[in-house]
Amino acid sequence: LNPESNVQFGEGGAGTFSDGKLYSQIKDPQHHGRKVLEEFVKAGAPDEILYINKPHIGTFRLTGMVEQMRQDMIAMGAEVRFQEKVSDLLIEDGQLTGVVLESGEQLHSRHVVLALGHSARDTFRMLHAKGVYMEAKPFSVGFRIEHPQTLIDKARLGKYAGHPKLGAADYKLVYHAKNGRSVYSFCMCPGGTVVAATSEPGRVVTNGMSQYSRNERNANSGIVVGIDPERDYPGGPLAGIELQERLEAHAYVMGGSDYQAPAQLVGDFVAGKPSTALGSVEPSYKPGVTLGDLAPSLPDFAIEAIREALPAFDRQIKGYNLHDAVLTGIETRTSSPLRITRGEDYQSLNLKGLFPAGEGAGYAGGILSAGVDGIRIAEAVARDMLGL
Ligand SMILES: Cc1cc2nc3c(=O)[nH]c(=O)nc-3n(C[C@H](O)[C@H](O)[C@H](O)COP(=O)(O)OP(=O)(O)OC[C@H]3O[C@@H](n4cnc5c(N)ncnc54)[C@H](O)[C@@H]3O)c2cc1C
Repeated sequence: LNPESNVQFGEGGAGTFSDGKLYSQIKDPQHHGRKVLEEFVKAGAPDEILYINKPHIGTFRLTGMVEQMRQDMIAMGAEVRFQEKVSDLLIEDGQLTGVVLESGEQLHSRHVVLALGHSARDTFRMLHAKGVYMEAKPFSVGFRIEHPQTLIDKARLGKYAGHPKLGAADYKLVYHAKNGRSVYSFCMCPGGTVVAATSEPGRVVTNGMSQYSRNERNANSGIVVGIDPERDYPGGPLAGIELQERLEAHAYVMGGSDYQAPAQLVGDFVAGKPSTALGSVEPSYKPGVTLGDLAPSLPDFAIEAIREALPAFDRQIKGYNLHDAVLTGIETRTSSPLRITRGEDYQSLNLKGLFPAGEGAGYAGGILSAGVDGIRIAEAVARDMLGL
């Protein structure tokens, strides 16, 4: 659109580390989601994502697709800068006029799309210091749970468990605890692995992923509790980030201060006693886990709600409350802890020319919704340039 503003930053997108589940619950009256899937197929995703329910791609394929999309964009005139960081904004009379890179180089444009992802804490702080309007938003905290995939298959598919046409079974669970908190499964990865997802030294955070084949031994999922700024982290736009940082730093210490993650068997967690030895389920987290008591890792209300939810989930998925199933901590990055609020023109409420986009801006919660948001932002930039 604008030779000065079609520069892409970053390292290729956190989205490449993922199960590549491509469904979302967003409202999409203009069917942008379809367009995103079509672009993915052009870039090498299997055709089936256009017609199957709950499509997924897997980490390896996503990586190749991102490379392909990058090549296509370069062929259309885009420039991609790796290992370059936006460290400041250029502002004149409430209008963004460009960005400054860490190298000191300035790039001038009156249209800047910032698609930062939900972990760009240093950049969120820089934007806040520059006075860009933002507000804390709800997110969730919890653990990753791992069961044998065969247990989930049996509970979900009965006598058809293991049928090659059905593949590894998934699940989705919600429970409303007596203390008013909701516990739910998040980013369930059939036949996958629990992965380290920290972006900073001295912190431990978990996430999950699968390959396209979904044939690893364990099923994993986040088991998380919703939290919100009014009740749980009053104190301004950055209070959610500060809470995440505190919890992740504590998890690092609980894991032994060497990037192992703290973990506990489900049976021990529910009974409130520390774990000392693994049972039949081997956790997949690398570099490894440190067994103990997970209770100090999250606020008491979250522990209480998860303790109540696990036996209740067993009524929906037989065996879910398996004594030897493993909880690995902690999950804190289910979505962005803040929103860089936009107006109807998709620009920052108080800084014209800044188009906050995707998950980091608080307007998407996954690969598909981030893609849809990208299309909306591109249209908004075009409208603004054309004066529409
Ligand atoms: C392990 C894992 C598994 C996941 N599985 C799934 C899944 O199965 N399905 C699903 O829908 N979603 C999944 N997600 C979430 C998904 O990856 C994100 O929702 C999606 O990538 C968000 O896209 P985005 O473009 O908004 O941000 P991102 O993909 O996070 O991209 C943001 C980019 O901005 C860069 N950046 C940040 N600050 C700066 C700066 N100052 N200067 C320059 N560059 C900067 C970052 O380095 C990054 O490359 C998963 C995430 C993880 C970590």
